[in-house]
Amino acid sequence: MRIIEHNYIDGRFVEPHGRELFDLHNPATGAVIGRVRLGDADDVDAAVAAAKRALPGMARTSKAERLQMLDALHSAMRAHVEELREAVLTEYGAPVSRSSWMADYAADTFVAAARTLADYPLQRKIGTARVVMTPVGVVGLITPWNSNAGFICNKLAYAIAAGCTAVIKPSEMSAMQTDVVLRALHEAGLPAGVYNVVNGSGADVGAAITAHPDVAKISFTGSTAVGKAIVQASAASLKRVTLELGGKSPTIILDDADLDAVIPGVIEAGFMNSGQACIAGTRVLVSEHRRADFEALLKAAIETRVKVGDPRDPATTVGPMVSQTQWERVQRYIRLGQQEGAHLLTGGEGRPDGLSGYFVRPTVFTDVSNDMKVAREEIFGPVLAILGYRDEDEAVAIANDTSYGLAAYVFGDPAHAERIAARIDSGRVVINGAAHEPLAPFGGMKQSGLGRENGPFGLEAYLEPKTLLGAR
Ligand code: NAD
Repeated sequence: MRIIEHNYIDGRFVEPHGRELFDLHNPATGAVIGRVRLGDADDVDAAVAAAKRALPGMARTSKAERLQMLDALHSAMRAHVEELREAVLTEYGAPVSRSSWMADYAADTFVAAARTLADYPLQRKIGTARVVMTPVGVVGLITPWNSNAGFICNKLAYAIAAGCTAVIKPSEMSAMQTDVVLRALHEAGLPAGVYNVVNGSGADVGAAITAHPDVAKISFTGSTAVGKAIVQASAASLKRVTLELGGKSPTIILDDADLDAVIPGVIEAGFMNSGQACIAGTRVLVSEHRRADFEALLKAAIETRVKVGDPRDPATTVGPMVSQTQWERVQRYIRLGQQEGAHLLTGGEGRPDGLSGYFVRPTVFTDVSNDMKVAREEIFGPVLAILGYRDEDEAVAIANDTSYGLAAYVFGDPAHAERIAARIDSGRVVINGAAHEPLAPFGGMKQSGLGRENGPFGLEAYLEPKTLLGAR
């Protein structure tokens, strides 16, 4: 049993003021494997004060000094990447290959931020003016459980690249990952106060950061509901906000796509991270005349090739849900889909045979219409909805008929798919299963978010342009 009883403030590991302990579970078994002591608003005050003291020094650093910091953070993270993979596996239940990907992503995001900074002009002439990009100030970084370590590192990397100082509020459900990341980052030896971490609940610590008058910007990744609360709470001090929120992303299969060939991509898009991914392609759109053939192929592939089980087994492709609460939420949606009149193509309520943790059965609904809740709301589990379309205009209309706009997937002839991609209101469109590009902007349209992360767009989210007139 691990007890984590420290925050990280002003370059030191310190006990939180709060006394409440929060249980950490192994989702593959349901067993309690640790506890984290939750901080409170006093801890936030101390962390913000430390970040504020460190800000002038950080803001004065040259590009070369920031690049050195990012390099030190990257090396420190790389030295702990195996330990982080183990924490992600144990605490989150992500299958082996996914856990490794997540740990590598967390470490290598410092390289992506460094590459971005190296190429980014922090000063430029515009007409007679000199425009200097200055750090926005003390930033509050708030992360979700589904990629806690990755988002801590990603947000911190770009904040440091910009010359900001930070107060981080990680997901309380992922405290073991946070602990590994913190001990790793500490070894990089950055000046005290440049980054500070307060463990705690959203209602206490998250809200205190959002309301704090000395915090200039919030970068938040999490649910749309909390994102809206953050916008309201931060309005009092007109904080800058970057919000990376939920999604209900469409996967469109065009008529010139080879059905056999697209099945692995549809499953990967839908069930990535065991379905607990903001960018999961959960609404699958296929033309009515090919729907029966597609459904037969998808059902066979899921029942024979998708393996739910022990995340430590390299053959496993879908692990458990992160918590009992999340398990119950997915069960509720599986019941709701049937009540709404959708039909189960495969899966259904309950656990797969022989498994006792927070495992769910990969589930596909068919005969879904886009006004059903299973087609409109983010379920955050391995549950897909198949919708038929009569022609491409209808496919595009269904794809766009959502309050979200985070990601979309199109399968078909590449030129044709690009024409469809141009018509979809979404922050990213993945054509034929293309790979991730770490320097490309990431974020959502509509209620999937505000602003972008990663690469130059992500860096600018931590910068304010200052115009100098009359300067040499
Ligand atoms: P959540 O919104 O419940 O919590 C996210 C974080 O916000 C946690 O650290 C939580 O403690 C904190 N929080 C909660 N209430 C708060 C408040 N009032 N003020 C400040 N902070 C508060 O989300 P979650 O369940 O941890 O994560 C899943 C959600 O995150 C899904 O909706 C998913 O789509 C979204 N997500 C989005 C992206 C993206 O990049 N767009 C990536 C991953 C996850």
